[in-house]
Amino acid sequence: VDGLLLYCRAGFEPELAAELVDRAADAGHPGYARTQRGDGYVSFFCDRPDALDRALPFDRLIFARQKLRIVKDLPGLDPQDRATPLLAALESAYGGQPDVPVFGELWTEHPDSDTGKPLAGLARGFANALRPLLRKSGWLTAQPDPGRPRLHVVLLGGTHLVLATSDPADSAPWPMGIPRLRMHADAPSRSALKLEEALLTLLDDDERAKLLRDNMQAADLGAAPGGWTWVLMRHGMKVTAVDNGPLRQALLDSGRVDHLRADGFSWQPPRTLDWMVCDMVEQPRRVADRMATWLREGWCRQTVFNLKLPMKKRWEETRICLEGFEQAAHRTLEIRARQLYHDREEITVFARPAAR
Ligand code: SAM
Repeated sequence: VDGLLLYCRAGFEPELAAELVDRAADAGHPGYARTQRGDGYVSFFCDRPDALDRALPFDRLIFARQKLRIVKDLPGLDPQDRATPLLAALESAYGGQPDVPVFGELWTEHPDSDTGKPLAGLARGFANALRPLLRKSGWLTAQPDPGRPRLHVVLLGGTHLVLATSDPADSAPWPMGIPRLRMHADAPSRSALKLEEALLTLLDDDERAKLLRDNMQAADLGAAPGGWTWVLMRHGMKVTAVDNGPLRQALLDSGRVDHLRADGFSWQPPRTLDWMVCDMVEQPRRVADRMATWLREGWCRQTVFNLKLPMKKRWEETRICLEGFEQAAHRTLEIRARQLYHDREEITVFARPAAR
């Protein structure tokens, strides 16, 4: 069987599976997902996996942390020698082909799940043992080369591996698809990490340089205690923080933050702002609709907002919210949405009017 393996937040396998089934069918490659709740990954199979892989670019997927192309499923391995069958699998997949790949990196990983996490030590040890063997047999470059495809060994158990590959241009640039961000001692809340991660993963380097600049004007709806405001302020922005709750005093002392005790659903800015961000805990359709109003009325040039998904059918709700959002904005939008590593029962969205 041939297909894709995608990592997700444990517990969100049904969402990722539903997203893949829908998107694959839309792209003309119907297939089926195999998963178990809590596994932290979903496998997806169809007749033409290479075409499907191209039809589902990683940055369009919402519930996937990483997208891998399966080379070979290797269950029932001998714990004394996992390497020999793995090298044999590579040889039988690629040997004799005109374009035998030389991989630029080896990542040994495990799902981010209760059963996966205890495999971290084994994954590290296996990488150290495997790397020289792969180099000796010509599968791996002597130095890491981010321009070449990556080789992934996914440990699903002590004797069960999946051999897979990823394209650095169409996948997450972090092992296990997890950006390791450290909580700053001054950050008013852990939520700061969500906005930091959003700016890191939903924007590219060039966009970050252009869109996050000194003295830009921003609003933060549902700002207290101020983690998101703090992130914007650290980028040099002036922030109107809207919330009935209290903000951390250091933000107010900075001279860059105005605190407004107002309703984030009715407040509107006196002039066009560069950014509006919103982390209000509210029904996602209501939030999406208000965000659409901001873009329709031109109150901000771009936005990052959270949609909380405490309900059961979270993929369906996501689809409804994002479709409704674009319709209510009355213009074509560029929308990038993802369940970030720091997102729990929610997704994060970046949006702006599409370039003409
Ligand atoms: N992003 C914040 C941070 O980084 O510290 C955390 C925000 S917290 C998850 C949600 C906030 O939304 C709460 O402080 C709550 O008071 C605020 N909120 C909820 N409904 C609101 C509304 N209608 N108007 C303004 N704020 C609202």
